[in-house]
Amino acid sequence: MIQTYITMKMQSYTFQVKKLTKNTKELLMKMKIEHLLTLTQNELYTYLIDTLTLIQVSSKFLIYSKGTTESKPMLCVHLDTINTHKANLTGYKVTEDDFVTTNGLIELSKTSSLSCLGGDDRAGVWVALELIKYMEETGDYKYDIGFFLDEEIGCIGSGVFCYDRDKLTNNCYIGLDRRSTDGTDEVAVYGNDNQELIDVFVNLGYKVEAGSITDASTLSNSIIPCVNLSVGYDYEHTKDEVLHIKCMDRTLSVLKDLNLVGKEYPTDSTPYYNYNFDDGVTHRYYDSDTMFELDTLKDYLISLGEDPDEVIELAYLKTGDDYVY
Ligand SMILES: [Zn+2]
Repeated sequence: MIQTYITMKMQSYTFQVKKLTKNTKELLMKMKIEHLLTLTQNELYTYLIDTLTLIQVSSKFLIYSKGTTESKPMLCVHLDTINTHKANLTGYKVTEDDFVTTNGLIELSKTSSLSCLGGDDRAGVWVALELIKYMEETGDYKYDIGFFLDEEIGCIGSGVFCYDRDKLTNNCYIGLDRRSTDGTDEVAVYGNDNQELIDVFVNLGYKVEAGSITDASTLSNSIIPCVNLSVGYDYEHTKDEVLHIKCMDRTLSVLKDLNLVGKEYPTDSTPYYNYNFDDGVTHRYYDSDTMFELDTLKDYLISLGEDPDEVIELAYLKTGDDYVY
């Protein structure tokens, strides 16, 4: 399959065909971000199955893994965008006329009906596909790649994969799903970190920021560390969303150069979760026992008619969701 793909890459392309025909596949081999932005989640899902050699295919995720079985990072991207989940866009055919590219910046055209550009997370998908192309060409399979569905409605794909990930040994999860504030390079962290892993990116000029929930943090679950790298989009989930092409290229080139295969990254900080009282203050708890010892909390919950066990369990499951750095 991949041999075919490399050969096809050399051919010329036609950009008119939008259905998933052979021509469209050829078109996508070039992996122009503008083309990725025109696809629905289902079209992209079908395209990946049709094009890549995958080791796990589920209706909620697709996993690419080749080469060494040594521990290596999994790069995590999601196939849906906010547009996927907007009922008023059902049947709306996105074309390249929906986008405008000027001076390295892609944004929605004034006439587009879309809710957002969809750079979140097609920029991540683009970087992932470019890395697959790179790994196939070099034979250096230094990343596993997880393509997850329906991240925007609660990390559904990565949540399902959590129960089915034993086939792989991943030393960390690296999300390609982070905004790039005004084009900066950011590494988002989640509290269950490994400083050495964070420093890999800090030393390359990435700025540390507090993370918000994504597939990588869902998979991390306080056992395997995760970070989330900026991939160029900013003002995501709005009509003002933009995509900084330079930032996409930057994260792609950083990941091409890195080699984290075989490294060990134990989580070196205590996982914790936050709980908000109605006093508006966020309280941080490091484990359920500590939390239980705080009679004030327990009494407070009981006074509300809540079951403390149930509330604390819910709060624990929300680790990373409301993380305050
Ligand atoms: Zn996202």
